Amino acid sequence: MFKPLDIKENEDKTGLQAVASEKVKCLIIGSGPAGYTAAIYAARANLSPVMYEGLQPGGQLTTTTEVENYPGYPEGITGPVMMEDFKKQAQRFGTDVRWGIATKTDFSGSVYKVWIDDTKLIEAETVIIATGATAKYLGIPDETKYAGGGVSACATCDGFFYRGKDVAVVGGGDTAAEEAMYLAGLCRKVYLIVRRDELRASKVMADRTMKTPNIEILWKHQTKGLFGDGVVEGATLVKNLGEEGEEEVKIKIDGFFLAIGHTPNSEIFKDYLETDSVGYIQTVPGTAKTTIPGVFACGDVQDSHYRQAVTAAGSGCMAAMDAERYLSEKNS
Ligand code: FAD
Ligand code: NAP
Repeated sequence: MFKPLDIKENEDKTGLQAVASEKVKCLIIGSGPAGYTAAIYAARANLSPVMYEGLQPGGQLTTTTEVENYPGYPEGITGPVMMEDFKKQAQRFGTDVRWGIATKTDFSGSVYKVWIDDTKLIEAETVIIATGATAKYLGIPDETKYAGGGVSACATCDGFFYRGKDVAVVGGGDTAAEEAMYLAGLCRKVYLIVRRDELRASKVMADRTMKTPNIEILWKHQTKGLFGDGVVEGATLVKNLGEEGEEEVKIKIDGFFLAIGHTPNSEIFKDYLETDSVGYIQTVPGTAKTTIPGVFACGDVQDSHYRQAVTAAGSGCMAAMDAERYLSEKNS
């Protein structure tokens, strides 16, 4: 028979009412390449990992078609199939994969508290944070319309598909400069769409970008929309928006790359863990250790630089090994 829980008995000092709680040895938050790799290693080390998948089960790669740079797949593989393989491998060794979003944390005690969907309370001996980072988009409807048809937020991932073609990169920071230079090595021409009359990128990166012969910087341009029959064939830009001399400009391109920044999914950890100014969780170099012993971070949420599936997976392995060593030292 259904027996309602006594809410008061379960009321937490944070004010949240925990309707149920559970103790686990190793909690993994996030189900991208980092989270699943951590799960495979943690499960094989008898840590009985419990994973919460979050809003995007399988992570960012589930939004892409071909992944051609992950070792072990000589013919390439689609992102969703690859992540399904990761999941099967983690489950094969006993990872308990669950639907749910971590909504609040309390890392002040010796056992780490994480609330799932604001209701269930998990009390974990170790926590592995693998919540990734989300690329920022302009917010124009055409980005969605042409998703998988010429719009990308990762030149390293998708640049290869545009060899010998003309593309555009939006942004003026170091990421945009880096992406533009990477694409310039592959593509015929790269337009860099910059909304101001200067780059935010560091001087050395800005100089290199401006000296690259097949990069054309479109100063004071903003993107109005994209056009093309099913795939991107061009972009409509506005020059000098809201100023004298405002005009509409069309460029012919096959690829449209966003490079206007990423948001690491670290909001709920910020009260306890050190982050950089953007929000990337800081780890001790060469490890997955955060500022709290027993709490580890891996993948894009702690990596502003590489943000690749293989580097995320590698750091997931590190996080699980660090967690296993932490527990064995604590219990010895
Ligand atoms: P993610 O894959 O971002 O996964 C984060 C996980 O955390 C998700 O499951 C999400 O649901 C979960 N999560 C977030 N917040 C919470 C929460 N509060 N509670 C519970 N769960 C949460 N890289 C390559 O190497 N090759 C490629 O070809 C390639 N192509 C790409 C194409 C696209 C379109 C994009 C966007 C990225 C691509 N990348 C590619 C980059 C690659 O996807 C990422 O580097 C990688 O997925 C990062 O892995 P991660 O595990 O750190 O995070
Ligand atoms: P960033 O420094 O925040 O730059 C974002 C850029 O995108 C800015 O030029 C910004 O324009 C532009 N932008 C933002 N929203 C826009 C919009 N809606 N429309 C058009 N343009 C828009 O982000 P980042 O380049 O990703 O860099 C993040 C951090 O990582 C930085 O600290 C950077 O130095 C670092 N990083 C370093 C390296 C390296 O050293 N090799 C490489 C990559 C990143 P405004 O300038 O007008 O605001």
